Order: sequence, then C-alpha cells, then structure tokens
Amino acid sequence: MSYFPPHIDEMTGYIPGEQPSDPDVIKLNTNENPYPPSRRAMAVLHAATTEQLRRYPDPVGQHFRQPAAEVLDVSGDMILCGNGADDVLNIAIRALTGPGRQMACPTPTYTLCEVLCRLHGCCIQDIRCSEDFSLPVDALAAAGAPLTYVCNPNSPTATFVPPDRLEHLARRLRGVLLIDEAYVDFADQNCLHLARQLPNVLVLRTLSKGYSLAGLRFGFAVGHPTLIAGLIKAKDSYNIDALSIAAAAAAIGDQKHFRNNVERVRQQRARLTAALKQLDLQPLDSQANFIFARCQSPPARDIFQALKARNILVRHFDEPGLDDWLRITVGTPRQNDALLAELESIISSSNT
Ligand SMILES: *Cc1c(COP(=O)(O)O)cnc(C)c1O
Repeated sequence: MSYFPPHIDEMTGYIPGEQPSDPDVIKLNTNENPYPPSRRAMAVLHAATTEQLRRYPDPVGQHFRQPAAEVLDVSGDMILCGNGADDVLNIAIRALTGPGRQMACPTPTYTLCEVLCRLHGCCIQDIRCSEDFSLPVDALAAAGAPLTYVCNPNSPTATFVPPDRLEHLARRLRGVLLIDEAYVDFADQNCLHLARQLPNVLVLRTLSKGYSLAGLRFGFAVGHPTLIAGLIKAKDSYNIDALSIAAAAAAIGDQKHFRNNVERVRQQRARLTAALKQLDLQPLDSQANFIFARCQSPPARDIFQALKARNILVRHFDEPGLDDWLRITVGTPRQNDALLAELESIISSSNT
C-alpha cells in the first residue's frame, strides 16, 4: 500500500553529486566554479535590509531582468527567472508537456530531464547519440515532440554542437527547442541569437557555473515574450527570493569579474586536457568547465575509487556506454596539480 500515485512510486529521484563535509576534499565532481563570485554580489548580500525580507519579492525579478537584458541584448520580457536553471527546466516541462505529451531528449545528457518528465507524467523519448556522442539531429526532428531538449555544451560529455545545426533543428520542429546553456559561459559560441530570432527557441542559463553562485540558486531562460508569458503562468508565484534577485543582478552587472573568472577556467581546461592526453587518457575536446575523459587501463571505476581514497572526488557514471569515462571539473591550478600528480601515480602503479 502506498500513499503515492503509480508514476511517483515508479520513479527514482535525481541523484546529485556527492557534497562531502570535509573541507580538505578536492571537489572536482559537480562542476562548480573554483573561483569566488563577484565582490559586488557579496556586498549586496551583506547589505540586506529588513524591508527586503519583510515583503514578498518581485514575482518576475524585474531588478535582475534589467541588467540582464542589457548584457544579453534582449528585452526584459524575454527573460524568465528561476530558483536555479533547474527550476526553469521544471517550469518548462510542466507548462509544455504533461500526461500524453512527449519530450524528446538525446542520451546521454543531463539526467534531471528524465526525472522531471516522470514527475509530470510526460513520455520521454530517449534518442541515443552515436558512439562519438554527436547529436542525433534527424532523429530529434523526426520525433516531433512538443518539447525537445538539447544541452549545449552537453553534460556529461562537454561537447558542443554549432549553433547553425541547432537553428536547422529548431526550424524543423513545430514544438519548442529548449537549449540548456548551463555551461555556455565557457564556450566560444552560444545560441542566444536563436532565442532572439525564432519564436520556438528557449535558451536556459544559470549563475551557478560561470558566475560561481551555485549556492545562491539563480537561473533564467531567454525566449520570445509570448513563450515567456506562457511559462510565467506555470511557475510558483514567488519562485525567486529577494536576496537572490539582488545578488544575481549585481553578479550579471559585473561582467569584468565574470570574464576574468571564465578565462582562468578556460586556461586551466586547456592545460588539463593536454596533461590528461600525456597520461594516455582520452579527453574529448571540452567547451565547458569540465572534461570527459575515457580511461580504459586501469578502468575508470578503479581510478575513481583510487582518487577518492586520496581525497579527490571526480564523477563516474556506472552505466553502459559511460562506465569507461570520468567527468572531471576543471579546478584551480593547485587542485589540478594535485589531481594530475595522483593520476600519474595511480596509473603508473597499475602498470607495474
Ligand atoms: C548545473 C546545471 C543546470 C542547473 O543549474 P542550476 O542553476 O544550479 O539549477 C542545468 N543544466 C545543466 C546541464 C547543468 O549542468
């Protein structure tokens, strides 16, 4: 006997990456930014007032929309704010799918999608990527779902699909194409122009990765005003709190800090990619703040365990097609030094 309806009983919840309480652990498993957020964002939090907390927040976060619209060169009514990009993803799935409606997703991709689909009783059409993880554009177009999800750069692979291919896909779809750009801050290109030009493209962004604010919980979507207005109907009335609106507005206004921060990660990404190749691991070219590397000897699972025993956490997905791989967040130079030293010792001791 269960209190829950069958679709809830049958689903498994999202499994987040481990968050160890030991501060000595080098955490390269959940793609957080290793550098601190903007000082301006911190100053806004320190200056919080009683009035700010006594009242309900602005339901659409106008105070964030204004500076964001300027930075992104869109109008304020093209922005939907959320309690993290995850909240916005949930709103989109809730508003655009539902029982009897489908969402098309390539696999492998961000696993929260499947969880949210099950939660809303929507049918998920899993479309397998080929061995090289390239995007199955034709199959996604053929699925013709009311909502199609593409994560670009993708997680866990860090690979990037050129915007013109996604434009082509969007033009072939009658439904909405949601492009999850959680990692795009670290990429050379993005799809924001598609959200400006096409009425069925929704671009998802977060302040968790490029802006170092994963703990704040702030994300947003950019799309046609009509699409945004429809999504707003499906959100919680006060889905973003007063403090996060204020801090997120300050953070996106501090583009100098942001660009600096992103550039440091990109430099370390290049260095780490080259060093992993030297160790005979096979990293894919990354456009994100993490690297997906194939490790066959010793097996990825053994390397994962050995690193963990040495206080370094990376991510291993225990699933067919992914179990030969490790997903490694790009850390600070010192964290990366430690990772590479331990990897070298693990690999050389397995060869003797
Ligand atoms: C981190 C991440 C998000 C969500 O970010 P939040 O704003 O922290 O909720 C969404 N999609 C992908 C692919 C991510 O990696």
